[in-house]
Amino acid sequence: MDIFSITGAAYLVAALLFILSLAGLSRHESAKSGLTYGMVGMAVALVATIATVIDVSEYVDDRGLVIALMLAAVAIGAVIGLWRARIVEMTGMPELIALLHSFVGLAAVAIGWNGHILGSHEGMPSLVNIHEAEVAIGIFIGAVTFTGSIVANLKLSAKMKSAPLMLPGKNLINIGSLVLFAVLTAVYVSLDTHDNATADVLLGVLTLLALALGWHLVASIGGGDMPVVVSMLNSYSGWAAAASGFLLGNDLLIVTGALVGSSGAYLSYIMCKAMNRSFISVIAGGFGIEAPSGDDKDYGEHREIQADAAAELLAGAKSVVITPGYGMAVAQAQYPVADLTAKLRARGVEVRFGIHPVAGRLPGHMNVLLAEAKLPYDIVLEMDEINDDFPETDVVLVIGANDTVNPAASEDPSSPIAGMPVLEVWNARDVIVFKRSMAAGYAGVQNPLFFRENTQMLFGDAKDKVEEIVRHLDD
Ligand code: NDP
Repeated sequence: MDIFSITGAAYLVAALLFILSLAGLSRHESAKSGLTYGMVGMAVALVATIATVIDVSEYVDDRGLVIALMLAAVAIGAVIGLWRARIVEMTGMPELIALLHSFVGLAAVAIGWNGHILGSHEGMPSLVNIHEAEVAIGIFIGAVTFTGSIVANLKLSAKMKSAPLMLPGKNLINIGSLVLFAVLTAVYVSLDTHDNATADVLLGVLTLLALALGWHLVASIGGGDMPVVVSMLNSYSGWAAAASGFLLGNDLLIVTGALVGSSGAYLSYIMCKAMNRSFISVIAGGFGIEAPSGDDKDYGEHREIQADAAAELLAGAKSVVITPGYGMAVAQAQYPVADLTAKLRARGVEVRFGIHPVAGRLPGHMNVLLAEAKLPYDIVLEMDEINDDFPETDVVLVIGANDTVNPAASEDPSSPIAGMPVLEVWNARDVIVFKRSMAAGYAGVQNPLFFRENTQMLFGDAKDKVEEIVRHLDD
């Protein structure tokens, strides 16, 4: 059997493992095995690819150099990957993922340019044209993914303001760029020869255009819509990989790219539905979204509560709902929260969790934290499952959540987060909000919840405050 048959079989096995991995990752209980399938699949794919390169390098002059370069690239990548994965904090995951998407984009651009420089090996002119179109499309998707992911990384790590960039005529810029891309691609494909300066310049302009478009698309999206952007860039990175797969003639890359591309697109669709946003509007870089008006409304005074009084309130409650948000991840408060839950349940208090689909900075962020702290799955409910129960709830603990419990989303049509479904915590008898200050959440919008009559603010680090409450309950 030759190496290509073995590689083909190995790629098929890897592709199946990737599908099993996606299926596993869709449920808490099977997520771990899903990850294992993914890792085994990637190991199979890597070994098969390395073996093929070693085998075919027999036909090149510098065989030793080719193998050494490839192994060095694998080793450097593995060392950096292991190092970053070991030191990354859970709160730093979203920006790390955005950065990893940018690498896929950059690789697709490099592969596209490589395809341009080497030219097509096809004999038939129509196949040559397909090759040239693959080059242009691959570079375009790759470059948009590259700069878009870098902006997402900067926004998620707060190195860039999360407010949307509102250039005049931004929709026209986006549509104009797409039209220009189509024209440049058509001209590039129709050139008689690609081994000249005209082809280089055309492709250079196309690359710069796509880099600028990727930057503009993501910069134009406001903080509240960032969850969709993260899943959308995930999808783009998949399509970029699939485009590279066509150029390299690598079936596994095509299959894997299509899996990532379509699952990312579906996730974006789910996130859009959860946030009541138009999918097309968000993927088109906030198409049709107007600049938010400044929020200088006077909401009145807020009330404060201390940990001892909060403990008393909880001890006298029959039903408690905890709605965690990004602040719980920052404070790493999930362990004391699990402690508090166990203590209250032992006293006969019904405790449940209400999870907003975009709470935190990653899809499923809160579920991961609560699973880490070994909270039982059956008391962790989705927003839709718990929203109707708030009127019968005695106390809601809002732990580091802000945008996801903001009544302005349903009550103020001029709010930048207007229309986004939120956890309607204000319908409960008492609400305690854990945060360090009166600062706004990720979307940069003031939260009228903090000024409601049944809301009390518990200022400080969420972990410290929950621990204090647990101590008071013990006394
Ligand atoms: P927010 O980001 O709206 O608010 C988090 C709150 O936590 C802040 O108001 C902050 O207030 C508080 N906080 C921070 N650190 C601590 C701490 N150590 N102790 C106590 N409180 C703390 O959180 P939500 O989860 O409610 O909303 C998520 C937001 O992120 C949404 O706008 C969503 O669209 C966006 N987003 C979500 C993504 C996803 O996939 N889930 C991806 C990208 C963006 P203070 O500083 O005063 O303490």
